[in-house]
Parts: sequence; C-alpha cells; structure tokens
Amino acid sequence: MPESEAETDVAVVGGGPAGLHAALVLAQGGLSVVLLDESDTLGGQYYKRRAEQLTAAFGDFRPRGTELINQVRAAGVDVRTGTLVWGAEDSGRTLFTSDVHTGALGRINTRATLAATGAYERSLPFPGWTLPGVVTPGFALHLATMDRVPVGQQVVLAGTGPFLLPVACALLEVGARIEALVELNHPYRPSTSAIGGALRQPARLAEAARYLLTLARHGVRVEQGARVLAAHGDTQVTAVDIGQEDGSVRQLETDALCVGFGFRPSTELPRLLGCLTEPDPTGSEQLPVVDADGATSVDGLYVAGDCAGIAGVHAAGVRGRLAAHAILRRLAPGRAPVRLSGLRRRARALDRFAELADRLYPLPTTADIPDATQVCRCEGVSAGEIRQTAATGWNDLHGTKAATRAGMGPCQGRECGHIVAALAGRGSNPNQEAECFAARMPIRPLPMAATVEGQEVP
Ligand SMILES: Cc1cc2nc3c(=O)[nH]c(=O)nc-3n(C[C@H](O)[C@H](O)[C@H](O)COP(=O)(O)OP(=O)(O)OC[C@H]3O[C@@H](n4cnc5c(N)ncnc54)[C@H](O)[C@@H]3O)c2cc1C
Repeated sequence: MPESEAETDVAVVGGGPAGLHAALVLAQGGLSVVLLDESDTLGGQYYKRRAEQLTAAFGDFRPRGTELINQVRAAGVDVRTGTLVWGAEDSGRTLFTSDVHTGALGRINTRATLAATGAYERSLPFPGWTLPGVVTPGFALHLATMDRVPVGQQVVLAGTGPFLLPVACALLEVGARIEALVELNHPYRPSTSAIGGALRQPARLAEAARYLLTLARHGVRVEQGARVLAAHGDTQVTAVDIGQEDGSVRQLETDALCVGFGFRPSTELPRLLGCLTEPDPTGSEQLPVVDADGATSVDGLYVAGDCAGIAGVHAAGVRGRLAAHAILRRLAPGRAPVRLSGLRRRARALDRFAELADRLYPLPTTADIPDATQVCRCEGVSAGEIRQTAATGWNDLHGTKAATRAGMGPCQGRECGHIVAALAGRGSNPNQEAECFAARMPIRPLPMAATVEGQEVP
C-alpha cells in the first residue's frame, strides 16, 4: 500500500524548462497541478541550481531559472522534489512514486499527465572509455558550473554536437586548459545550404559564434573531422589517441577526457504507457508520436521537451507551454480561447533549427566499435559478445539481452541500450530499424526500503 495518495487535475513529471513552463501555464489557468522531480531541486538540466554557499560566492546560475521556479511556486503548484515516478498505469491517470531519500511510496491520481522527463547524454564506447577520468561533457559542465571545479587540468573534449562548445567555455572559465576540442563532423565549415538554414536562426548563430570566439581567444584548436580512437592509462586516463581524416593518429596527454555524442530522449514513461512511437531523426531512438501540442496516442498523456525529441532549452519551454494549453482546453473547456499562433510559429522555427543540428552533427556508425570493447558496463558485456550472440540467431534486441545480460544491470540499458540495439540489429540485417528495450515497472531502480515492511510494488 502506498504511504501517501493525492488527487490532482494534472501531474507534470519533470521540473526542467518544459515541465516548469507547463506547470506555470496550467496553474495560472486554474487547474490543480502536481510537479514531480526526482532531483532535490527544480530546474532540470538547463536551470540547475547551485548550492547556497556557491550562489553566495559566485552568484545565481541562470537567474531566469530562479525567476521561473519562483513563479511556479507562487502560482500554487504542488511541488514534489526528491520524488521519483517509477511506474504508471491507466493511461497515466495513476502514477506510482517513491521518495528518493526514504523510499516511501506514493500514488498520484490525475486527470492528465505531462511527461517532461528530459534526456540522457549519448555515449559511444571506445577502448578505454571506462577508465577513471573519462567522463561525459555534461558531467564536466556540472562540475564547472555547479561546483566551480574543473574536471581536469589538461582536458580533451571530443565527440560531436553543439553542446561541446559551451562545455569548453565553462571549463576555461574555471581554469582548465583544453588540449583540443575534437569534433567528429565539419559543422564549422558548413555547406551553403546549412549556412542558409543557420542564418534563419540569428540568435543561435550568435551564441555559437560567441563560444567559438572565446575558444579562439584562449588558443583552443577545434579539430574537425577527427575522433577519439582509444584512451590509455592505468588507474586514470593519461593519454588519448586521436584519429585524423587522413588516417593518421596522434596522441595527446590528458588527465580528463570528455566524450559525448549529443542527447537521447528519456521516453520510458510514455513507452511504459504504451504510446505509439516512431524512429527519431538519428534512426537510433524511438520517439513518442505526438500532435503539434504534444498529445500522444494515449488519451490524456502528453509529452514535451527533450523527451519528445531533442530540440534544446528554448524549444522545451515553448513545447511545454503548448502542451499545457492543450490540457487546459481539454480539462477547462469553458475558458476564453488563447491565441497561440506566435508560440506555434516559434516552435516550428526551433524544430527547424533542431533538424539543422541533426544534419550538421550526424552520429558515427557503431560498426567500428572493436569486439573487445565493453558496451554494457553494468554487466561487463563486450561488443564482440553481442555480435556473436546476434550472429548465432539471437538477432533481436530482447533475445540478445536475455542471452548476454546486456542491459540487465542497474542502469537497465539507459546507457548501453541504443548500442546493444544497433549491434544486435546488424547481426543479420543491417537495415533493421533500431529497437529499444521495453519500458517496464519500475522504470528506475527503487530503493530496497520501498519493498520491505509490507510495502509491495504492484
Ligand atoms: C547533462 C546535460 C547538460 C545540458 N547542458 C546544456 C547547456 O549547457 N546549454 C544548453 O543550451 N542546453 C543544455 N542541455 C540541453 C538542455 O538542458 C535541454 O534541452 C533542456 O533542459 C530540456 O528541458 P526538459 O525540460 O525537456 O528536460 P530537463 O531539463 O532534462 O528536465 C527533465 C527533468 O525530469 C526529471 N525526471 C526525469 N525522469 C523522471 C522520473 N521518472 N521521475 C521524476 N523526475 C524525472 C529530471 O530529474 C529532470 O529534472 C543539457 C542537457 C543535458 C542532458
């Protein structure tokens, strides 16, 4: 039995930019709103909160986030931080929660649910990627912006995506030296058509130019068309091999290697509720199928922000507001109509920018991950084991998972699932569409405390 039970008009899962903007519109529209986030603070990835002492010493990190959070609280939203949503049923009308500190279980009964659960960073394995000192760019950014600590003194940043630029700038600000920014693609030598697309987004273009100027001022070389081949070190990364386009390899000394390939939507909740999905533009993820307002195929379930497709912080805010207006039209139909044409135009423009980013920063193939490289870190399964399993006939994702245990560890495939899927799919059919592990309750690990003393997970 849950320890607490609550009734609400709308439950918003995720207190990042999408969830915050949505909760505000919903509460201002007169609905009761419960906003749930497993973090102890609201803000999500972009409006992350600094600890009090650091705010006092270094100032507010992104004051717009503070302002938005204050508005949400002032509007009467029932904010429940430190609360994980680990399950749902009945088209999202019932959400199962757990207090991340005590394990206390709860249940929320709601008339509509908005999933605004954000994204994960995308990692791709390479030899040495499990060495201490090899991290994701988001982790390095968190240390630099929240704790004002550089992840290393001699940092190499690599992978692909526009996100590498702000991370590099944040590292410079806290005193790290950047040995190189190694970009897999050639986004900063774009084709004429890409330049045309970028010119239609002057604010985003100006932001990228600011980052590139900062890097140039600090003498950071942005190497395009290059990639990390391997990291070396005993107890800590000390060197990294960089493969150049002409086939040559050079080695750089480093004490921190940050490698990332953009973001992957966190879609477990909508998938658990059975909503229709389709492949995302990268072809490697399944995204909820939605209408222009984020309504899914499951009646009463909406999605917004990065979990509905990676489009960045501005799109998350706009999409959160559009979904909120759609929920208001549904649950409070008597309200005066609100003009949304400006918001819709903005959403379409931001979508076009996201499409441009997908074109400028394509993902590499998983075909050249060496057999010996570990893919599932939780269960210690290598790329070779997955390929072998697929080749012996277990060539769907679920069979591969059962045979190798890849994706059965604590992260439940959130880290490796997309790679296991790609490797398994290639076993017999290179054109097979990417699958993903089925979403099951609990969608995140639950503390043992939640399952003892007579409490049972349904
Ligand atoms: C690591 C990282 C760093 C980033 N840094 C930048 C940056 O510097 N600049 C930039 O422009 N963009 C950055 N982005 C992208 C930008 O932050 C996102 O586009 C934006 O935050 C998306 O907003 P969102 O509301 O969709 O999701 P998020 O901001 O990710 O918020 C999602 C929230 O949902 C919560 N949540 C997820 N699942 C559950 C659950 N089951 N139960 C309860 N709560 C849950 C999470 O705790 C989180 O707070 C970053 C993204 C990531 C992943």
